[in-house]
Amino acid sequence: MSRYQLSWIILPLCMVLYSCKSSEEFTGYAYDPEGVTNTSDKEIQPQHKRTIGRSEEGIWISNEFKGARMNDFYKVDKSLYRVVIEPENHPINNSPWYAFKIHSESPRTVQLQLSYRHGEHRYHPNISRDGNHWRTMDPSAIQVDTAGVATLTLDLDGDPLWISAQELLTYRDMTQWMDSIRTASPTVVDTVGYSHRRYPILKMTTAPKPRDQKQGVLVITGRQHPPEVTGGLASRIFIETLTADTRLARAFRKAFEIWSYPLVNPDGVNGGHWRHNAAGVDLNRDWKNFNQPETRAIRDDLLTLRNDPNRKVYYGIDFHSTNENIFYPINRDITTFPDDFTYKWIEELKNSFPEMPLKVEPFPPNSPIAKNWIYHTFGADALTYEVDDRADRSQLREISRQAAQILMQNLLEAKSQQ
Ligand SMILES: [Zn+2]
Repeated sequence: MSRYQLSWIILPLCMVLYSCKSSEEFTGYAYDPEGVTNTSDKEIQPQHKRTIGRSEEGIWISNEFKGARMNDFYKVDKSLYRVVIEPENHPINNSPWYAFKIHSESPRTVQLQLSYRHGEHRYHPNISRDGNHWRTMDPSAIQVDTAGVATLTLDLDGDPLWISAQELLTYRDMTQWMDSIRTASPTVVDTVGYSHRRYPILKMTTAPKPRDQKQGVLVITGRQHPPEVTGGLASRIFIETLTADTRLARAFRKAFEIWSYPLVNPDGVNGGHWRHNAAGVDLNRDWKNFNQPETRAIRDDLLTLRNDPNRKVYYGIDFHSTNENIFYPINRDITTFPDDFTYKWIEELKNSFPEMPLKVEPFPPNSPIAKNWIYHTFGADALTYEVDDRADRSQLREISRQAAQILMQNLLEAKSQQ
């Protein structure tokens, strides 16, 4: 082959390689809408808070509570009604959150359609009589058509019935829970910044030590995405296990501080958003540009650890939910500190629950998400921990507790090897 011919092979090959290289620039995951990495402020649609009455039938529906999402309500025919559910803005990924309460002045059975704009039915309804205690709705009372519209059969009476995509876990629920942690174990709660709607971005420092004492640090973040309640529940069980009065947890707290930010997106949670904050932005795509006050506040707080000779970040976990249990660790060929920590942890967790479906999908640390920022800033291993939306809650508790225990053991081991 002449040198001329060879160049005809090499040149296109170089072009292919070059385009592969440039395609490593992250523009969004397969389920992300276009432009997701542009995290500058966008307009959002206000949700009008109101109680809508059908006085002639005596049916009333309301979104006048925190975490609610219900945009409109009307009668379709004799006993069929429609609730319209809209996202805060769009394009947006398909996480169609809804939450409202409904009652009828006289007992009756109705059909209620959940009709989504810019989305299709995804979350199996949870129902409650008081807005606090929840159970999943009987599957035989729900039908989902091919257009993604769900029709619920409801027995209504004079007492309100709450219907929600997941149990409500609002800003107030989280602060009450933080108080219980503070009572259980020395924990300092600080405000590290404010959201667009002026909610405090809260940080819990558990087992705080004097600054001149050498400590490992575990970083926990959660609820960047409002509907991801199972991830929020898992983060709480983790923190409860780390702050428990057990021999392991006490040893862990001697060696580690826990820096946790369990409610990154309070505006989205209390506003009943599908995905975004009050500026219409996916916060877990803003860990590079830091255009949003919530991500900026947490970044600035964590950056105080970077040049601290007495604090070393060992690990970061960012809690989420999706339609399966899935862990997204950093690619194995990338060296982290401690190295390969996540893989060892997952292996042990799988051994504890051999029946539990748990997928592991490593990916390169090139996207602007919390986990990758922790790796790039501290060199620490980090994980996106996704819990199944439909997880059985008692099993979720059991698995999260065990996962936290293995995590503590392994972090103590990693630290003792330093
Ligand atoms: Zn998420």
